[in-house]
Amino acid sequence: MSSNSSQPRVQVQPCRYKTGKTLGQGSYSVVKECVHIDTGRYYAAKVINKSLMAGREHMVRNEIAVLKRVSMGHQNVLTLVDYFETVNNLYLVTDLALGGELFDRICRKGSYYESDAVELIRSTLSAVAYLHENGIVHRDLKPENLLFRTPDENSDLLIADFGLSRIVDEEKFHALTTTCGTPGYMAPEIFKKTGHGKPVDIWAIGVITYFLLCGYTPFDRDSHVDEMQAILRADYKFEPATYWADVSREARDFINKCLTIAPEKRMTAVEALAHPFLSSETKHSHDLLPNVRKNFNAKRTLHAAIDTIRAINKLKEGGVMNGALSIAPEDQREPTAEDENANNDGLWRRPTGGRMRVE
Ligand code: ADP
Ligand code: MG
Repeated sequence: MSSNSSQPRVQVQPCRYKTGKTLGQGSYSVVKECVHIDTGRYYAAKVINKSLMAGREHMVRNEIAVLKRVSMGHQNVLTLVDYFETVNNLYLVTDLALGGELFDRICRKGSYYESDAVELIRSTLSAVAYLHENGIVHRDLKPENLLFRTPDENSDLLIADFGLSRIVDEEKFHALTTTCGTPGYMAPEIFKKTGHGKPVDIWAIGVITYFLLCGYTPFDRDSHVDEMQAILRADYKFEPATYWADVSREARDFINKCLTIAPEKRMTAVEALAHPFLSSETKHSHDLLPNVRKNFNAKRTLHAAIDTIRAINKLKEGGVMNGALSIAPEDQREPTAEDENANNDGLWRRPTGGRMRVE
């Protein structure tokens, strides 16, 4: 190709991977199992439709840059194996996390103690400390982005989804004001537009810890406005008392020190790792699973019902619906052939962002 050509260079290479079943769905992507044709090795391919990315290409470039820089360096961070694009899609090939999402796995367990939550938070925090040391803020830590590498009992937990991470320019991070992330896990300074630095990840760890101990999030309210106001005031309680009676004082203190409004007073990742909640060898004898599972499933059912109502309303708005048409809640629905097709050229998306409430 001549160097003065005005056309952008397009390198066409035969695809070395065959994609299989859908593993998960994010806001801008579909994640599929894939196998490398030559080696027979299995990976996960995050397929991002270019037309959906219009104007947001920087998010993908950012995710690639971040993963390239950090993915080999920590056992709790997902490894980027390959990256390529086709006419319609971008593909990020990563290690396959066969153990599923954090909370689904907990719900399938036979029992679940505070010490299990401690282990999970310790792994997550140690990866967060590693990211922070490397000048990276994840900014979208939440249970859906924490995946187990294998189904084994002692599997590594991996931080995935670096779509919103930013490599921090220490000088400039205070000036960053783009709103991002899932409201329930977002720190007050994000709403106040006063900062986006490393402390936002520690806030999210506080919310995740709370959630891991009771099955619901601390700022869950009836609307986003109420939720945001609760976050700005750090208005949360360890209530109802029945769900918190058997949770240790150290756990509550740890949560309080993560959910501190002023980012500069919040614990750092290194301080959090040294907190007695994570360092003590206390044995907890109370099985938290029955309550955690009950609360989590109650929310999930409610959200699925809300998703269904929204989907029906959307169809009605579009005039697509005439007569009786029943729609299964998104969370319980099997992907159809139609979804599969849509994934190939026009990415299929849930009407709402998964389990997140969208007003
Ligand atoms: P998004 O940026 O669109 O949120 P994610 O990277 O979070 O995309 O992926 C969406 C979902 O796909 C995850 O919540 C998870 O269930 C699944 N997933 C993502 N990466 C992998 C992986 N490497 N192995 C298995 N499942 C994955
Ligand atoms: Mg995600």
